[in-house]
Amino acid sequence: MTDFLIATNNAHKVEEFKRILLPLGINVISAKDAGVDLGEVEENGSTFAENAKIKAESAFKIAGIPCIADDSGLCVDALDGAPGIYSARYGGEDIPQTQRTALLLENMKDDKASDRTARFVCSICCVLNSENIIQVEGYCEGSIALKPMGEGGFGYDPVFLYKDGRCFGDISGEEKDSISHRGAGLRALREELLNRKDLIKC
Ligand code: IMP
Repeated sequence: MTDFLIATNNAHKVEEFKRILLPLGINVISAKDAGVDLGEVEENGSTFAENAKIKAESAFKIAGIPCIADDSGLCVDALDGAPGIYSARYGGEDIPQTQRTALLLENMKDDKASDRTARFVCSICCVLNSENIIQVEGYCEGSIALKPMGEGGFGYDPVFLYKDGRCFGDISGEEKDSISHRGAGLRALREELLNRKDLIKC
Protein backbone atom coordinates (compact mmCIF):
# COMPACT_ATOMS: atom_id res chain seq x y z
CA MET A 1 0.00 0.00 0.00
CA THR A 2 1.31 3.46 -0.87
CA ASP A 3 1.76 6.05 1.85
CA PHE A 4 0.52 9.55 0.97
CA LEU A 5 1.25 12.37 3.36
CA ILE A 6 -1.65 14.68 3.96
CA ALA A 7 -0.32 18.18 4.52
CA THR A 8 -2.67 19.51 7.17
CA ASN A 9 -2.76 19.86 10.93
CA ASN A 10 -6.54 19.58 10.89
CA ALA A 11 -7.37 16.17 12.40
CA HIS A 12 -10.91 16.33 10.97
CA LYS A 13 -9.53 16.69 7.45
CA VAL A 14 -7.08 13.78 7.97
CA GLU A 15 -10.04 11.57 9.00
CA GLU A 16 -12.05 12.59 5.91
CA PHE A 17 -9.09 11.93 3.58
CA LYS A 18 -8.46 8.55 5.21
CA ARG A 19 -12.06 7.39 4.90
CA ILE A 20 -12.25 8.21 1.20
CA LEU A 21 -8.79 7.17 -0.03
CA LEU A 22 -8.23 3.95 1.93
CA PRO A 23 -10.52 1.91 -0.36
CA LEU A 24 -8.16 2.86 -3.22
CA GLY A 25 -5.21 1.30 -1.43
CA ILE A 26 -3.86 4.67 -0.37
CA ASN A 27 -2.72 4.89 3.21
CA VAL A 28 -3.10 8.49 4.33
CA ILE A 29 -0.61 9.52 6.98
CA SER A 30 -0.36 12.80 8.81
CA ALA A 31 2.90 14.73 9.18
CA LYS A 32 2.93 13.59 12.81
CA ASP A 33 2.59 9.89 11.75
CA ALA A 34 5.43 10.41 9.25
CA GLY A 35 7.58 12.12 11.87
CA VAL A 36 8.14 15.21 9.73
CA ASP A 37 7.74 18.84 10.62
CA LEU A 38 6.07 20.72 7.77
CA GLY A 39 6.64 24.09 9.44
CA GLU A 40 4.50 27.12 8.66
CA VAL A 41 3.68 27.64 5.00
CA GLU A 42 2.61 31.08 3.86
CA GLU A 43 -0.68 30.61 2.00
CA ASN A 44 -0.24 33.67 -0.19
CA GLY A 45 -2.08 32.43 -3.28
CA SER A 46 -5.11 34.29 -4.58
CA THR A 47 -7.19 31.15 -5.26
CA PHE A 48 -7.95 27.90 -3.44
CA ALA A 49 -6.02 26.04 -6.17
CA GLU A 50 -2.90 28.19 -5.76
CA ASN A 51 -2.89 27.70 -2.00
CA ALA A 52 -3.40 23.93 -2.27
CA LYS A 53 -0.42 23.73 -4.66
CA ILE A 54 1.78 25.85 -2.36
CA LYS A 55 1.02 23.50 0.57
CA ALA A 56 1.45 20.23 -1.37
CA GLU A 57 4.70 21.29 -3.07
CA SER A 58 6.19 22.53 0.19
CA ALA A 59 5.28 19.23 1.93
CA PHE A 60 6.76 17.19 -0.94
CA LYS A 61 10.03 19.13 -0.71
CA ILE A 62 10.27 18.29 2.99
CA ALA A 63 8.92 14.72 3.10
CA GLY A 64 10.00 13.37 -0.31
CA ILE A 65 6.94 11.07 -0.57
CA PRO A 66 3.64 11.65 -2.41
CA CYS A 67 1.82 14.53 -0.72
CA ILE A 68 -1.73 15.75 -0.82
CA ALA A 69 -2.94 19.14 0.38
CA ASP A 70 -6.31 20.77 0.18
CA ASP A 71 -7.36 24.36 0.48
CA SER A 72 -11.00 24.75 1.21
CA GLY A 73 -13.50 27.28 2.40
CA LEU A 74 -16.98 28.69 2.40
CA CYS A 75 -18.15 31.18 -0.25
CA VAL A 76 -21.31 33.13 0.56
CA ASP A 77 -23.06 34.88 -2.34
CA ALA A 78 -24.55 37.68 -0.20
CA LEU A 79 -21.01 38.49 1.02
CA ASP A 80 -19.53 38.55 -2.50
CA GLY A 81 -17.83 35.18 -1.98
CA ALA A 82 -16.45 35.87 1.52
CA PRO A 83 -15.02 34.34 3.62
CA GLY A 84 -13.62 32.33 0.66
CA ILE A 85 -9.88 31.69 0.85
CA TYR A 86 -9.87 33.52 4.19
CA SER A 87 -12.36 31.09 5.82
CA ALA A 88 -9.86 29.87 8.43
CA ARG A 89 -8.93 33.47 9.35
CA TYR A 90 -12.33 35.21 9.07
CA GLY A 91 -12.57 37.83 11.80
CA GLY A 92 -8.94 37.47 12.87
CA GLU A 93 -6.22 34.86 13.36
CA ASP A 94 -6.65 33.97 17.00
CA ILE A 95 -10.36 33.72 17.66
CA PRO A 96 -12.34 30.52 18.23
CA GLN A 97 -14.42 29.09 15.39
CA THR A 98 -17.65 29.82 17.31
CA GLN A 99 -16.77 33.53 17.09
CA ARG A 100 -16.04 33.30 13.33
CA THR A 101 -19.38 31.61 12.80
CA ALA A 102 -21.14 34.23 14.94
CA LEU A 103 -19.51 36.99 12.84
CA LEU A 104 -20.71 35.33 9.64
CA LEU A 105 -24.27 35.17 10.99
CA GLU A 106 -24.05 38.80 12.17
CA ASN A 107 -22.85 39.95 8.72
CA MET A 108 -25.84 38.17 7.18
CA LYS A 109 -28.46 39.22 9.71
CA ASP A 110 -30.49 41.17 7.11
CA ASP A 111 -30.41 38.40 4.51
CA LYS A 112 -33.57 36.34 4.29
CA ALA A 113 -33.49 32.56 3.67
CA SER A 114 -33.68 32.85 -0.14
CA ASP A 115 -30.68 35.24 -0.16
CA ARG A 116 -28.40 33.00 1.91
CA THR A 117 -27.01 30.74 -0.84
CA ALA A 118 -23.45 29.54 -0.35
CA ARG A 119 -21.08 26.78 -1.35
CA PHE A 120 -18.15 24.95 0.12
CA VAL A 121 -15.15 24.65 -2.21
CA CYS A 122 -12.32 22.17 -1.88
CA SER A 123 -9.28 22.41 -4.10
CA ILE A 124 -6.88 19.46 -3.87
CA CYS A 125 -3.32 19.21 -5.08
CA CYS A 126 -1.48 15.90 -5.13
CA VAL A 127 2.25 15.88 -5.83
CA LEU A 128 3.23 12.34 -6.85
CA ASN A 129 6.75 13.41 -7.78
CA SER A 130 8.37 16.51 -9.24
CA GLU A 131 6.93 15.80 -12.72
CA ASN A 132 3.47 14.56 -11.79
CA ILE A 133 1.10 16.96 -10.10
CA ILE A 134 -2.67 16.49 -10.03
CA GLN A 135 -5.13 19.29 -9.25
CA VAL A 136 -8.86 18.74 -8.81
CA GLU A 137 -11.75 20.62 -7.22
CA GLY A 138 -15.03 19.69 -5.52
CA TYR A 139 -18.04 21.83 -4.63
CA CYS A 140 -21.05 21.56 -2.38
CA GLU A 141 -24.03 23.87 -2.90
CA GLY A 142 -26.21 24.95 0.00
CA SER A 143 -27.12 27.91 2.17
CA ILE A 144 -26.38 29.48 5.52
CA ALA A 145 -28.72 28.67 8.41
CA LEU A 146 -30.15 31.38 10.66
CA LYS A 147 -28.48 29.82 13.72
CA PRO A 148 -25.99 26.99 14.46
CA MET A 149 -27.36 23.44 14.58
CA GLY A 150 -26.00 20.07 15.68
CA GLU A 151 -22.88 18.95 17.46
CA GLY A 152 -20.98 17.28 14.60
CA GLY A 153 -18.39 18.31 12.03
CA PHE A 154 -16.02 21.25 12.28
CA GLY A 155 -15.56 24.79 11.04
CA TYR A 156 -18.75 26.23 9.54
CA ASP A 157 -20.57 22.85 9.48
CA PRO A 158 -23.14 23.89 12.14
CA VAL A 159 -24.43 26.72 9.90
CA PHE A 160 -24.17 25.02 6.50
CA LEU A 161 -27.40 23.63 5.10
CA TYR A 162 -27.02 21.23 2.20
CA LYS A 163 -29.38 21.95 -0.70
CA ASP A 164 -31.86 19.32 0.63
CA GLY A 165 -32.04 21.09 4.01
CA ARG A 166 -29.75 18.76 6.02
CA CYS A 167 -27.30 20.65 8.22
CA PHE A 168 -23.64 19.53 8.10
CA GLY A 169 -23.57 19.85 11.90
CA ASP A 170 -26.29 17.22 12.17
CA ILE A 171 -25.12 14.45 9.85
CA SER A 172 -22.65 11.56 10.19
CA GLY A 173 -19.13 11.68 8.75
CA GLU A 174 -20.04 9.09 6.10
CA GLU A 175 -23.15 11.05 5.07
CA LYS A 176 -21.04 14.21 4.81
CA ASP A 177 -18.43 12.42 2.63
CA SER A 178 -21.12 11.42 0.16
CA ILE A 179 -22.26 15.01 -0.49
CA SER A 180 -19.44 17.29 0.62
CA HIS A 181 -16.99 19.38 -1.40
CA ARG A 182 -14.08 17.34 0.05
CA GLY A 183 -15.84 14.07 -0.84
CA ALA A 184 -16.39 15.34 -4.40
CA GLY A 185 -12.79 16.56 -4.68
CA LEU A 186 -11.36 13.31 -3.33
CA ARG A 187 -13.51 11.20 -5.66
CA ALA A 188 -12.16 13.30 -8.56
CA LEU A 189 -8.63 12.72 -7.23
CA ARG A 190 -9.33 8.99 -6.95
CA GLU A 191 -10.31 8.92 -10.67
CA GLU A 192 -7.12 10.76 -11.63
CA LEU A 193 -5.01 8.40 -9.52
CA LEU A 194 -6.66 5.37 -11.10
CA ASN A 195 -5.51 6.73 -14.48
CA ARG A 196 -1.96 6.90 -13.16
CA LYS A 197 -1.84 3.54 -11.40
CA ASP A 198 1.63 2.93 -12.86
CA LEU A 199 2.92 5.78 -10.67
CA ILE A 200 1.56 4.46 -7.38
CA LYS A 201 2.20 1.10 -5.79
CA CYS A 202 -1.34 -0.06 -4.90
P1 IMP B 1 -7.75 25.59 5.16
O1 IMP B 1 -7.35 24.59 6.21
O2 IMP B 1 -6.78 26.69 4.94
O3 IMP B 1 -8.15 24.90 3.89
O4 IMP B 1 -9.02 26.33 5.76
C1 IMP B 1 -10.25 25.86 5.53
C2 IMP B 1 -11.26 26.54 6.43
O5 IMP B 1 -12.52 26.54 5.74
C3 IMP B 1 -11.49 25.74 7.72
O6 IMP B 1 -10.76 26.22 8.79
C4 IMP B 1 -12.98 25.89 7.93
O7 IMP B 1 -13.23 27.08 8.62
C5 IMP B 1 -13.54 26.02 6.53
N1 IMP B 1 -13.93 24.70 6.02
C6 IMP B 1 -13.32 23.99 5.02
N2 IMP B 1 -13.92 22.80 4.84
C7 IMP B 1 -14.91 22.75 5.76
C8 IMP B 1 -15.89 21.75 6.07
O8 IMP B 1 -15.95 20.65 5.52
N3 IMP B 1 -16.74 22.09 7.05
C9 IMP B 1 -16.71 23.28 7.71
N4 IMP B 1 -15.82 24.21 7.47
C10 IMP B 1 -14.92 23.96 6.49
